[in-house]
Amino acid sequence: MNYKGTRDATITTTAAQAIVQGISKDGGLFVPETLPSYSYADLVAMKDMQYTERAARVLSDFLPEFSAEEIKECVSAAYAAEKFSGGHPAPVVSVRNGDTTMNVLELWHGPTCAFKDMALQLLPHLLTHSLKKTKCDKTAVILVATSGDTGKAALEGFKDVENTKILVFYPENGVSPMQKRQMNTQEGENVSVCAIEGNFDDAQTGVKRIFVDPAVNEKLNQNGMLFSSANSINWGRLLPQIVYYFSAYCDLMAKGILTQEGEKINLVVPTGNFGNILAGYYAMKMGLPVNKLICASNSNNVLTEFLNTGVYDRNRAFHATISPSMDILISSNLERLLYDVTGHDAGKVAGWMQELNTTGRYQVDDETFAKLKAVFCGAYCDDETTKATIKEVFQGAGYLCDTHTAVAVNAYEQYLAKTGDKATQTVVVSTASPYKFADAVLSAVSDSYDSGKSEFEKVEELAQETKTEIPAPIAGLEQKQVRFQNRCKKENMSDVLLQMVHLK
Ligand SMILES: *Cc1c(COP(=O)(O)O)cnc(C)c1O
Repeated sequence: MNYKGTRDATITTTAAQAIVQGISKDGGLFVPETLPSYSYADLVAMKDMQYTERAARVLSDFLPEFSAEEIKECVSAAYAAEKFSGGHPAPVVSVRNGDTTMNVLELWHGPTCAFKDMALQLLPHLLTHSLKKTKCDKTAVILVATSGDTGKAALEGFKDVENTKILVFYPENGVSPMQKRQMNTQEGENVSVCAIEGNFDDAQTGVKRIFVDPAVNEKLNQNGMLFSSANSINWGRLLPQIVYYFSAYCDLMAKGILTQEGEKINLVVPTGNFGNILAGYYAMKMGLPVNKLICASNSNNVLTEFLNTGVYDRNRAFHATISPSMDILISSNLERLLYDVTGHDAGKVAGWMQELNTTGRYQVDDETFAKLKAVFCGAYCDDETTKATIKEVFQGAGYLCDTHTAVAVNAYEQYLAKTGDKATQTVVVSTASPYKFADAVLSAVSDSYDSGKSEFEKVEELAQETKTEIPAPIAGLEQKQVRFQNRCKKENMSDVLLQMVHLK
């Protein structure tokens, strides 16, 4: 299987090269040329497998240069029992709320308590093998700009992985206290963290600038290093996410919840950069029986509008919400969906992306829009509704969910109200532990909420109030030693990098 670029039909590359490179030189994204196809018999066969076996099955179809042994090695290391609590990296929990039942796919049992672990625990292993396969004997330097969850998950995934170094920049005042502490206490010999005086855009722009800086690249090259990316545009981050949609379907079959051959399910996904829901779309294209993909957004509702009108318009106010990992106005992975829906029309996609770049807006043609409408619905809610939903699900079903998951639950409720589709089994994707956003979750469920308390006091109180367990990685954080307290001006980010790799 080869990979193509979304903006240039002439680009063809291997899986390993796509993973090492991260993004195509023209700014396009790498996509598989064809998708493997799974029959009902394949799903039945996967039903009795462990998660790692299901992952190996799916990965092997996309990574032809990897041997079965290598893939097994990668997935076993990524989803080891000591990393994911509870024995199943992606369990499905049935939640009954009034007369509706949701199947909640919990993707936050990994080391950083957010779904980014599902991909970022595996990516470093895929990357180190890919480096060898592309005959690259260099050390990969991973640069990350983060608004919170990605930075910590990438640090945890890459810590002490051979032939890699990782440096994370975060906006000094743009991440939650818990996220800051998670990053500043990071262990590992090959990791570094630095706050920048600026916002997330400054961090992101700074990282992009360093990536293409010829002098820095030359210096790294001469010293046996090269840049690589852990962003969600890397194919190596998307691929692991396809697995859990198959896994959820298999678990629902194993539980006797799905009983008919070909029985379709709905998928509801809290969405930011469009990576998670796109993986669900690919699973559907590969044969997973899916009825609707429901794209849930917060007040940054650019995708809801797009799915309702066919117009993508980022010219709008940016809202800082209580579901910050979805505070995004340019959903990068949408480009891959457009490439697929247009029948791999790289010219068309390049045109829209160019418009987005110059005017911040584009409108897809009627045929493309009709194809999107046939599969996707979009819905959004604001912070107040998000909190009300957390409270309602906790009081009604005894299930505590985080702010991002609550946005998805609300989108599902809107879908039900509009369509009356109660017959279709529905998987709601849960992307973070409620303890990662303890402040907002506590304020939603507690009558005695006091915003002035410390983050760890709120965590304790949430546990007492809801009789739920604090995940070990968060419980252990208070005792951990702070290792990183560096901060820099945005102009000095490349100096920080060069110091980290001992070239300055
Ligand atoms: C990153 C993230 C999302 C958004 O996922 P995308 O793949 O960017 O759409 C949702 N919830 C949480 C908790 C996240 O960390």
